[in-house]
Amino acid sequence: MVYLDYAATTPVDKRVLESFDRTCLEYIANPNSLHMEGVKAKKLMEAAVSQVATLLNVKDSEVIFTSGATESNNLAISGIINKYKDRGKTIITTKLEHSSILETVNYYEKNGYNIKYVKLDEYGLVDLNNLKELLNDDVVLVSICEVNSEIGIIENIDEIGNLLKNYPRIIFHVDGTGAIGKKHVDLTNIDLYSFSAHKIYGLKGVGVLIKKDNINIEPLIHGGKSQSNFRAGTPALPLIVSTARALKLILSDLDYNISYVKELSERLKNGLKKIDGVTINSNDYSISNIVNFSVVGIKPETLLHALEEDVIYISTKTACSTDDYSIGVYELTNDIERAKSSLRISLSHLTKENEIDYFLEKLEEKINRLKIMN
Ligand code: PMP
Repeated sequence: MVYLDYAATTPVDKRVLESFDRTCLEYIANPNSLHMEGVKAKKLMEAAVSQVATLLNVKDSEVIFTSGATESNNLAISGIINKYKDRGKTIITTKLEHSSILETVNYYEKNGYNIKYVKLDEYGLVDLNNLKELLNDDVVLVSICEVNSEIGIIENIDEIGNLLKNYPRIIFHVDGTGAIGKKHVDLTNIDLYSFSAHKIYGLKGVGVLIKKDNINIEPLIHGGKSQSNFRAGTPALPLIVSTARALKLILSDLDYNISYVKELSERLKNGLKKIDGVTINSNDYSISNIVNFSVVGIKPETLLHALEEDVIYISTKTACSTDDYSIGVYELTNDIERAKSSLRISLSHLTKENEIDYFLEKLEEKINRLKIMN
């Protein structure tokens, strides 16, 4: 199998699974139980939370475990809106966000909120002047994805955060799902930061929302005592512990992985450029692990299934999108045909050079075959 869809999800690292198994078997109690086993479980939970906090340079009290980045994004947006109802009714975001942001703000738009999409420049980067123009007393939240999941555009989160420091009433949320474990991240100027474990070789069904202590949120899930006060339910200790392990492992090899994946990415892009009919949509501001391209005239699903015949797995748009074209590619290229025919390759440190070469060979073969049939 040639798996080139690591941005959709990653295989679990065996060492992460081991920590999940061990926690399940050896820490059976609820961390909030008062007996000895509960205390033992609580100590482990606190150590895991502390590890995540240290790795991200935040405080232990700022780590909230959730069921994934979708919940983290929902908790960030709804949590702020419901907590700071009197501050304003405007949310600023971009057209490059994941559906868990776009659908959430759509919901609030139907419920009286004003959603403003900040202009992007020709590379897909947030236009800081336009952002400045949009900032006013009615803005309660700015939510921007650090790395777009389809084209891989890396937004300048530091610059945006610096600008927003001048507006202390406005809260800054960053969806870091595509960034964490792929680039160095700095949460200094960010109020809320979301990510999922399954994108960093952790388990599906667990994520994190970092929420700085100086801001407050209303929980989405109400109930009993948990890992944090902002999300009720018995703490999912094995998921929490395994996520801390996943984060530790991925960050310990970060520099090596970044340069290895960059080389693979260059090899892939050079190969794609040589194939007739292929246009690369990712640009110089895209993260190396994501390469988005279009083959105008061939349905992306057709190409995806044709590659599947040779056990090669890639993606059309993001797995979570419901539109029949890529909003991100359209925003960037203004070309509906390219937006309708875009495909995404996503690489990993686990990807091998020969997998790239095999993919390129098969892609060219399939394109030539499908062109003749068209
Ligand atoms: N944000 C981004 C940028 C994503 O790529 C994803 C996953 N596709 C999510 C949020 C949602 O993550 P999850 O599916 O783990 O809830």
